[in-house]
Order: sequence, then C-alpha cells, then structure tokens
Amino acid sequence: MRKIIVAIDGFSSTGKSTLAKQLAKELHYVYVDTGAMYRAVTLFAMRNQYIDNQYFDKENLIENLNKIKLHFVFNEEKGFGEMYLNGENVEDEIRTLEVSQNVSQVSTISEIRKKLVEQQQKMGTKRGIVMDGRDIGTVVFPDAEVKLFMTASADKRATRRYKELLDRGDKDVSFDRVLKNVESRDYIDSTRLDSPLSKADDAIEIDNSDMGLEEQFDRVLSLISTRL
Ligand code: C5P
Repeated sequence: MRKIIVAIDGFSSTGKSTLAKQLAKELHYVYVDTGAMYRAVTLFAMRNQYIDNQYFDKENLIENLNKIKLHFVFNEEKGFGEMYLNGENVEDEIRTLEVSQNVSQVSTISEIRKKLVEQQQKMGTKRGIVMDGRDIGTVVFPDAEVKLFMTASADKRATRRYKELLDRGDKDVSFDRVLKNVESRDYIDSTRLDSPLSKADDAIEIDNSDMGLEEQFDRVLSLISTRL
C-alpha cells in the first residue's frame, strides 16, 4: 500500500500527540512530535541562561544554534521516539511547565524554525509519517495527503494538561497557571510572524471538546483509509 503523510496541527493540549501515536501504531508509520524539538531548543536556551521569565537574549541563542543537535531514539516500551538533546535523553525535562512557559517565545525565531523545519522535512522524504505540531500542514508538508486541525475549549485543554502534569509528579502546579499558559501559548503561536498556527485550507477540523479518544481515532482512521 502506498505511504502517505499525515499532518496534525492545532492548539495546545488538544491531544494531537495521543492521536498521532495511535495512528502511527495502527499504520506502522513513524511518529514525529515537532513540539518536542522546539521544547528541546528551549531547554538548551534555559540551561545557557539565554531565556528566563525576565529576559530573552535572542542574539546569543541564534549565534549558538550550531551547538544544538537533536534526534529521536525509538523507545520500544513506550512505543515512540524520545527526544535527545546533544546525546542526552531530555524527554521528561522538556515537559515541565517552566519549559512550556518559554517555548512559544523561542519558537518565534525564524533561524530556529528554519533549522527544525529542514530536519522535519528530511524525516518525511520516504513518507509513511505522522507528524504533529503547529505548521505541519501549512509549512513543513503543504503536500501532505491528510491534514487535521485540532481544537477544543481552553478549559478542557487546560484540564487535560493539568492532569498530565500532576500524573508526572509536578506538585507545585496550579490549574490557573496551566490555563494561563495554554492561552498565552495559543496567542503567541497564532500571532507570530513566521509560520503562525493556522488551519490549512485543505485541513479537516476536529473539535474534540466532547469527543472520546476512541470515536476520534475511528473517525480519523476512516478518513485516512479513503485517502489510501
Ligand atoms: O506540541 P507542544 O505543545 O509540545 O509544542 C510546544 C510549543 O512548540 C508550541 O506551543 C509552539 O510554540 C512550538 N511549536 C511550534 N511549531 C511546531 C511545534 C511546536 O512553533 N511545529
């Protein structure tokens, strides 16, 4: 059967990665979480004091971009590729609220986007890939055979992300901070100049505020089978 590209974009915490992982497993495709790549660059920036709550030294970060090497290593047990920054597994560290609070600022920088988009496009040359992010259907793979754009109410999304952080053992987190973060990331991601989050004209919108995971998966799978 011919292999295609499934591009999944949408707002923060709409369950893009959950759906992408389900699809990749079912189709025996590679799953790529591009948010993990922007998060890893952000972790690098935080560790080198280029960014914190108070300031952002863009110039220094851009100058040192060549010191950032990113790759995924497939974890059999988890069933997806974990993010490595310069040879170190940073999969857990990139998911903290602190990284979430800086990542959208970092992702506005064109030099960073260019570097990551190139790497993402290389991963898709053989197709057979499910990729999620903010600009996959619009910039990374405008020719993707299936494009999905996911939304849900901000409250539902923050509730999901809050639960995820609690499950990870982050005890200092509050629902209010998570809600604010989800809203502010959506705002920055949708209004930035380079590759803003937007629905591609040919993307199918899925509002999963009141949709279960199974229903969503079945719907999308039947859509994909029509394209195959
Ligand atoms: O998908 P996730 O929520 O982990 O993404 C974290 C952040 O990375 C987003 O809020 C956005 O700022 C940035 N991002 C992006 N382009 C992508 C994927 C993520 O700008 N393709």
